[in-house]
Amino acid sequence: MRQCFTLRAPVTVLQGVGEKKAQAFARLGIETLGDLLCHFPRDYEDRSHVLPIAAVPAGEAACIRAMAAGEARLTRVRRGMELVRLRAVDDTGAVEITFFNQSYRKDQFRTGETYLFYGRIEHNGARRTMTNPEFEPADAAGQVTGRLVPVYPLTAGLSGRMLSAAVRQTLDGCAEVPDALPEPVRAACGLCPAREAFEQIHFPTDLAAVSRARERLIFEELFVLAAALEQLRGQRAAQPGVRYTQTDLSAFFAALPFAPTGAQRRAIAQAADDLCSGRAMNRLVQGDVGSGKTLVAAALAYLTQQNGLQAAFMAPTEILAAQHFETLSALLAPLGVRVGRLTGSMTAAEKRRARQALAAGETDLVVGTHALISGDVTFARLALVIADEQHRFGVGQRAALAAKGRQPHVLIMSATPIPRTLALMIYADLDVSIIDELPPGRQKVDTFAVDSSYRPRLEAFIRKLVGEGRQVFVVCPAIEENETLATPLRSAVEHARALSETFPELRVGCVHGKMKPKEKDAAMAAFVSGETDILVSTTVVEVGVDVPNAALMIVENAERFGLSQLHQLRGRVGRGSHKSYCVLCSDAKGETARARLRALCKTSDGFRISEEDLRLRGPGDFFGARQHGLPAMHIAGLCTDTRVLQQAQQAARAVLARDAALQAPENAGLRRRIEALFAARAQTFS
Ligand code: ADP
Ligand code: MG
Repeated sequence: MRQCFTLRAPVTVLQGVGEKKAQAFARLGIETLGDLLCHFPRDYEDRSHVLPIAAVPAGEAACIRAMAAGEARLTRVRRGMELVRLRAVDDTGAVEITFFNQSYRKDQFRTGETYLFYGRIEHNGARRTMTNPEFEPADAAGQVTGRLVPVYPLTAGLSGRMLSAAVRQTLDGCAEVPDALPEPVRAACGLCPAREAFEQIHFPTDLAAVSRARERLIFEELFVLAAALEQLRGQRAAQPGVRYTQTDLSAFFAALPFAPTGAQRRAIAQAADDLCSGRAMNRLVQGDVGSGKTLVAAALAYLTQQNGLQAAFMAPTEILAAQHFETLSALLAPLGVRVGRLTGSMTAAEKRRARQALAAGETDLVVGTHALISGDVTFARLALVIADEQHRFGVGQRAALAAKGRQPHVLIMSATPIPRTLALMIYADLDVSIIDELPPGRQKVDTFAVDSSYRPRLEAFIRKLVGEGRQVFVVCPAIEENETLATPLRSAVEHARALSETFPELRVGCVHGKMKPKEKDAAMAAFVSGETDILVSTTVVEVGVDVPNAALMIVENAERFGLSQLHQLRGRVGRGSHKSYCVLCSDAKGETARARLRALCKTSDGFRISEEDLRLRGPGDFFGARQHGLPAMHIAGLCTDTRVLQQAQQAARAVLARDAALQAPENAGLRRRIEALFAARAQTFS
């Protein structure tokens, strides 16, 4: 009987998918049949050409068609190692097939049957051998060998063949594969229909078909995203923002302890123009670590107060919120701005009072974390939201903010330099100010890449610097639970203990992600105030923390960090008048790893580093766990051709220009996809 599924059905509707297997699918992020179709192969193996055994060149992977010439035999060698051996023959020769530690293979062959084997053939004198090949009976139904075979990202309990079978069932069982591309767009761009694309990406007839399918799916993904952004932009243009009328910043500038840089002045002027335009501002301020972005925020918060309105400043962590509260209070309170704070570590009573002050309009600027714009916080006259170190404040979050029925001005600040293609996608609905100038007098941070043999010298250097009154950051990679690695990684806690033993005369503090916010704050505060000399931490110090007295940043297992991340870490020192250093410790031997660290020693330009990072690591890792706030891209890599992106953007604009609400029947698929996109994002936001 032919079944009928929709793509929203859970994978358990498939035959042979029970609870256990559903869990394995879930580990791959696959819950529904739709997810399953979007679990794309990461590569293909060409098993379409079956070669005679004698014709396979040494060391090459190939598909052979051979008969089991006898029983498969199980032998035990050395401690616990089991081998299953099978001799297989065709007209041209014989090959000895070995499976390691897969004793169950012994019973999977029948003498005289013919099988397709896929694997690497080695020549051993006249002998031919093949180890752990993939295989199946030559006449099996739904046969995958002997053609172009998809290679999927897999997990324990799910083989590539099981995935293929599940996808096959889905495609056969779904009467309709919804298409997010409106028919006219699809036809105009010469792209294939959705069903065909899915069919070919999973069961390709040849490589040309794969690239046609990819082309279509990439286009679709970018098109949906572009359309979503275009809709946001449209909604924004339709919604007026509070118009500021007071624009005099002279008192603010006069009160500064330093002269703002030209770039800071420019960014402030651009944003101030937005605030006076009557249209809601959506501006990104991008500038390398230490370029002084906080000043831009302070200037705008001041203007907001001058206009009798309220501003909210959101930091990514409690520690940063505390620090920004200090900085902004020091700068703005003398000018009459009432600065408040709202963070998770405050007592219930403190929070209540802070909320009341906001609701009553008695606070002009509130500093806190993302909790500020979620849930039960009400503002009397919220006009400006500032998001610091924004990579977590993406498209969907902005959509959610708009959906709350308020349309405050939004200023996003980021030190993460973003390669151009990426910026086009993430910030397509934003205006951008770039701070490309560091405050005068900044010294270059001398950077060194060293291995363990350097440790005694490093210890002497720590003693010397601390003896001169400086402080030291030591960063260890965050260690995920049940991570097993060949090389011992330095965990923050253990390393802090080791350092206390090495330096009994110094005070060593420790901060890591598993600590309670209160403990974290206390340890951080002790370092900021100079009570501790050395602060060992995971990357919680990555963004924004300002300790001008810190002159040395040591990164352990530096090979575990992204270049941009290391650059951010390095930006934690060299913020005061002291000559500062960054030491990257790594025993990694690989040439790429060494090359990456060398690149960092050579340059201090954040944009150059980000391009290099993207080139060396590929886009997948770029921000770590999807910090860019973009919906997960299944297929369109973040390095995708700008041309396709622009084409998709143009097409999306044209569709929305004709049908802003996407009411036309041909746009229904697109409308549903955009709704799903925002729904998924809004959830992660709250
Ligand atoms: P980031 O862009 O990384 O957020 P901050 O705003 O934290 O940078 O500024 C880094 C440091 O530079 C702070 O200590 C700040 O007081 C100082 N600073 C900012 N602007 C200037 C300036 N124009 N002249 C001198 N120092 C400045
Ligand atoms: Mg900052």
